[in-house]
Amino acid sequence: MFRGAPLFFRETEADLIRVGKLLREGELVALPTETVYGLAADALNENAVRRVFSVKGRPFLDPLIVHLAAAEAVEVLAEVPPALERLAERFWPGPLTVVLRKKAVVPDLVTAGGGTVAVRVPAHRLMRRVIELSGCFLAAPSANPFGYVSPTRAEHVRESFGEKVPWILDGGECEHGLESAIVWLADGAKRARLLRSGPISSEEIEAAIGHRLVSGDAGNAEKTGAQPAPGMLSRHYSPFTPIVLREAGAKPTLRVGGGRQAVVWLRRPQVAMAGVEEFWLSENGDLREAGRNVFALARRLDAGGFAVMHWELAPGTGIGVAINDRLRRAAARA
Ligand code: AMP
Ligand code: MG
Repeated sequence: MFRGAPLFFRETEADLIRVGKLLREGELVALPTETVYGLAADALNENAVRRVFSVKGRPFLDPLIVHLAAAEAVEVLAEVPPALERLAERFWPGPLTVVLRKKAVVPDLVTAGGGTVAVRVPAHRLMRRVIELSGCFLAAPSANPFGYVSPTRAEHVRESFGEKVPWILDGGECEHGLESAIVWLADGAKRARLLRSGPISSEEIEAAIGHRLVSGDAGNAEKTGAQPAPGMLSRHYSPFTPIVLREAGAKPTLRVGGGRQAVVWLRRPQVAMAGVEEFWLSENGDLREAGRNVFALARRLDAGGFAVMHWELAPGTGIGVAINDRLRRAAARA
C-alpha cells in the first residue's frame, strides 16, 4: 500500500471543525462539492492559493472559482449586478458560477490578473459547513492534476495526488459529477455569456435572466475580456488512453488488432458486441446519471489497460451538452 497516505476526514462535526481550522491556517484540503471534488484554500491567502496552482501543476493564467457560504457575501468580493439576484435566487446554492467585476480584496493570483472574479455558492452540505467553520472564502479548483480527468470520489483525489494532498474530506460520490456552468455576468444581463456548460442548462439560465445567452468558447471569452483559461481550451479532462468519439446512437468503428478496446455506451446495450469490452454510463440512458458517472468511468477505463476507448456522445440537449463538452475535450489531442 501507499506510504504517507493522506488522512481522510469524515462527516462528523469534529472532523469538519478540524478541516475548517486547517483551511483557516492556510493549509490545502480536498473537499467534496455537488459538482466534483475541489482542492480548497483560503482565497484571500496568497501563499495558500499559490500552493493550489503548484500542487495541481496549473498555469497561473487559469483563474480560480471562489466558493461562498451565502449569496449575500458576494458583495465583499465583487460588484453585484441586478441580474445576479435572479440567478442566485433560482440556482444558489448550486452548480452555477458567475463571473463578476472584482473588488480589490481578491488577490490577482485568484483571477489570473484580470479584473473579474468567478464566484459560486455550492450546495454540498459538507462543503457549506466547512466554509462556515473556516470563516474563509474558498478557492477550490477541481482536485486533479491540471488537464487530467476530474475527481468525483475521495479515492480519485488520493489516486492522483498521493501525499501531495495530505487531507481529504470524504463526502462520497459527487451528485452531478460535472463542473459548474459558468456565466459571464461582468457586462450585465444583456451581454451574459455561457463560458462553460454544466449541470444547469443554458435554457434554464436564459429563463432566469430573461435574456438569450451568447455561447462563448475561449476566443469569445477573450473578446469579452475574460482571461484565456485552459478550462475552456480544447484538450482538458483527458485520460492517457486515446478516445474515439461517435455520435449518439452510432456503432463504434473498431480498430483491427492492436490491443483491448473498450466501448462505452450511454445506456446498457441490448445485444453484446464481439471482441470488445462494453461499459455504459446509465442503465436506461438517464442523462443525470450519465453525467454523474462519466469521469469515474473515464478514470476506471484509463487504469484498465485498454489500447483505445470508444465513447458514445450524449444527445445534445440539457445536461448532454455538458457531457459532450467534457468528452470532446477529453478526446482532443492538443
Ligand atoms: P475549475 O478548475 O473547474 O475550478 O475551473 C475554473 C474555471 O473557471 C477556469 O478554468 C475558467 O474557465 C473559469 N474562470 C474562473 N475565473 C474566471 C474569470 N475571472 N473569467 C472567466 N472565467 C473564469
Ligand atoms: Mg478543472
